[in-house]
Order: sequence, then structure tokens, then C-alpha cells
Amino acid sequence: MLDVDLAVVGAGPAGAAAAITAARAGLSVGVLDRAVFPRDKCCGDGLTTGALRRLESLGLDPTVLPSWQPVRRARVRVPDGRVACLELPDPDRVRAATVPRRELDSALVGLARAAGAEVDEGRAVTAVTACGGGCGVELALDDGSSLRAWYVVAADGMWSPLRKALGLAERGYLGEWHALRQYYRGVGPAARDFWVWFEDDLRPGYAWSFPLPDGRANLGFGLRRTPGEPTGSMKRRWEDLLSRPHIAEVLGPDATPEEPVRAWPIPARIGATRLAGLGGRVLFAGDAARAADCMTGEGIAQALETGELAARAAVAAGAEDPGRAAADYRSVVRRGMALDDHVSGVFSRVLASERGSRAWFGIANATLTSRRVFARWMFEDYPRAGLVTPWRWRRGWLSTPAPFPAGD
Ligand SMILES: Cc1cc2nc3c(=O)[nH]c(=O)nc-3n(C[C@H](O)[C@H](O)[C@H](O)COP(=O)(O)OP(=O)(O)OC[C@H]3O[C@@H](n4cnc5c(N)ncnc54)[C@H](O)[C@@H]3O)c2cc1C
Repeated sequence: MLDVDLAVVGAGPAGAAAAITAARAGLSVGVLDRAVFPRDKCCGDGLTTGALRRLESLGLDPTVLPSWQPVRRARVRVPDGRVACLELPDPDRVRAATVPRRELDSALVGLARAAGAEVDEGRAVTAVTACGGGCGVELALDDGSSLRAWYVVAADGMWSPLRKALGLAERGYLGEWHALRQYYRGVGPAARDFWVWFEDDLRPGYAWSFPLPDGRANLGFGLRRTPGEPTGSMKRRWEDLLSRPHIAEVLGPDATPEEPVRAWPIPARIGATRLAGLGGRVLFAGDAARAADCMTGEGIAQALETGELAARAAVAAGAEDPGRAAADYRSVVRRGMALDDHVSGVFSRVLASERGSRAWFGIANATLTSRRVFARWMFEDYPRAGLVTPWRWRRGWLSTPAPFPAGD
């Protein structure tokens, strides 16, 4: 007898989505996280339409969270000083928002509990092995106990201890992006908008200021990593960015940092990553599956999606057929998210060159319609590779209303 049908390691968005999906499908689910919630996660806290749609389908209403901040428009500045104002359509509904991860992830953990999953906080997994006869997985925990399950969803983040333990970690891998975040309070009125600054020395990366309620904002920047090349001091780059007049002007004279900077890598190569281990008994999700978008570094929607897909694959395959679970999971990722990642890679290369980014800006900013289309695409209202994957088209696909009402 195993302890649970499905164990989930990591209770971020990927792990919570897996736990909610599996518990609602009738599996017994045990979730382990080494952190105690609410916990911070170094992140821009930006929710795309894709992420909002997934939260809605899981049954989470993020609009009730204390620091929920809907976003109506994005202002995008390019190095020559031009600024595009990308208004999202349908002001009565929310297509983008920010909410601190401390609040979002806690709410997701609460939803996993309500769905019937047993969530154990403050418990780290230290080792993973196949149970005797290959029928299940045993997780060793830092307090000397263990948990046995038919399947494990490894949603244990960028450094995925489970990936390492199974010998599936890529040698010297540091992620596709490196990003830094700092919260500010007392920001000026211009920082009530959602800002993205493309700078010559960051391209295709960018700096951001994402609004939060009560004069707060989440600021930071992300850099694409070139394998083998160090990023240099992120802190020094940050000080330099903050001193640029166009950024300082948006922040305003009273902006004050709330806490020290934090930096963290972002893994974005789902199309070239092992998604399963131990013959399909372990399925990787979220950052552990390197699932973030390789053009923007956004990974919450992708974490929710892979968590759900991995859980569904385990449910559909049943306890005895882990090979099928792995094959189903790989196949659904290959026919969807891996293609989105490929398209993002193409655009990222365009943005990396000066000519490419100028041409992109000209096209995106040409008319009201192009600005709307681009804003919806940027905020993942439809999949990046949506136009070339007809098997994902559904009736009303491009006109589905945004998930949550905007409120006052
Ligand atoms: C600076 C920065 C800005 C970003 N901005 C955005 C943004 O604005 N929008 C967006 O969509 N994405 C953004 N991302 C990406 C996003 O944060 C990640 O893609 C997302 O958090 C991945 O979720 P996850 O559930 O896979 O992993 P995580 O959220 O990292 O969760 C992993 C969990 O695993 C637990 N864990 C780890 N090891 C163990 C262990 N041994 N035992 C038990 N538990 C363990 C951890 O405690 C953690 O809770 C940003 C990332 C960075 C670094």
C-alpha cells in the first residue's frame, strides 16, 4: 500500500495546479514544500490573460486578494525614446493584473487544501527513488520520514532538487534569463501604469515597473543569458538603470525601496527538456520543466498549465502505466507549449537586434487595432503559436471575454 496516489513536490503555481487537478479527479494527493506559506517568490508578480484564465478554470478568484491590481494598459518604451501605449480591449474585464506572489501562492495552496490535497509545509524532499518492483516512488524528507506515491509531480522550481537527484539536471545550467526584482513604495502617478522599458544594453531583455495598490510597485529587469558568459553585477546594472531619467521620472521623487534587491534565474526551454523521469513515475512541471516564456520570462501561466497537464496525464494513465503518463504529457506539451516556446524564440531573436526591434515597434504601434492585437498577444490572451496550431482552435477562440470583471 502506498501513502498517496500522487505526491507533489513544491507548492508554487505548478505544484498547486497539479494538486488541485489530481485531487478533484479523485486521487489522494500529498503536497510537500520546504517553505512555509505565505512565502515570497522573486517575481514581477505580473499575471497575463493566460494566467488569469487558468486561475479562473481552477476556481481561484484573485480579485479578492488584498494587493490585487488590475492593469488596463501597458506603456512600452524603446531606446530611441518613443513610447507606445497599448490599451487592452474591453475595459470592463481584466486582461492583465499584478498581485504579489506571497498572496497568490498562498491562495493557491488554500485552494489545493480545499480540493482535498494534504499540504505539508516546511518539509523538504531530500531524495527520490523507485519503490521495489518499480511500482511507485519513494520520497525521503529532511526529518527522516518518507512518502510513497504512484506518481510524483516535481514542481520544485528552477533548481529542482528532484531533477538533480535523478541525474537529469543539465550540466552548468543557469536558466535562459537572469532577473532582478525590488519592491518600491511612494511611487509617482506615472507608475500606476504597467511599464516596460527596452534598453539598448538589455535587449532582448527589458526593465519593468508593475503597479501595486497604495503607491507601491514591483520593479526589476531581466537579461537573456548567453551560455558561458557571466551577466556581470546585476546590482550595478540596476543602479545604473534607476538613474536613467526616463525611469526615474516614472518612479517620481518620493519612490523608496522597501527591501534589498533579489535576483533569480528563469528557465525557458520546455521544447528541449526532459519532462519525465523514473520511467514516467516523476513528471516535471513549471520551472522544473523549464516552462517559462523565452521571450518575456513570464512563467506563472506556464507553471499552472504544466501542473495541470502533468496531473491529468497521471490520472488518465492510471497507477500501472507510467510510460503512458510520460508519453501523453510529452505529446501534449510538444503539440502546444513547445511550439509557443519556439515562436517566442523567433521573436526574441528579432527583439535582440536594433533593426528588428525598431521594425517590431513600428508594426505594433501603427494603429489602434495593431496596438490591441499586440497587447493581447503579449499578455498571452491566445497562445504564441495559436495561428499555426489549428488543432487548438475552438469556436469563439479569439473573442472569448477576459476572465474577471474590472470592478470600480
Ligand atoms: C525576477 C523575476 C520576475 C518574474 N516575473 C514574472 C512575472 O511578472 N510574471 C510571470 O508570469 N512570471 C514571472 N517570473 C517567472 C515565475 O516567477 C516562475 O516561472 C514561476 O514562479 C514558476 O512557478 P513554479 O511553481 O514552477 O516554481 P516556484 O514558484 O519557484 O515554486 C517552487 C516551490 O518548490 C519548493 N521547493 C524547492 N525545493 C524543494 C524541496 N527540496 N522540497 C520541497 N519543496 C521544494 C519551493 O519552496 C517553492 O515553493 C519571474 C521570475 C523572476 C526570477
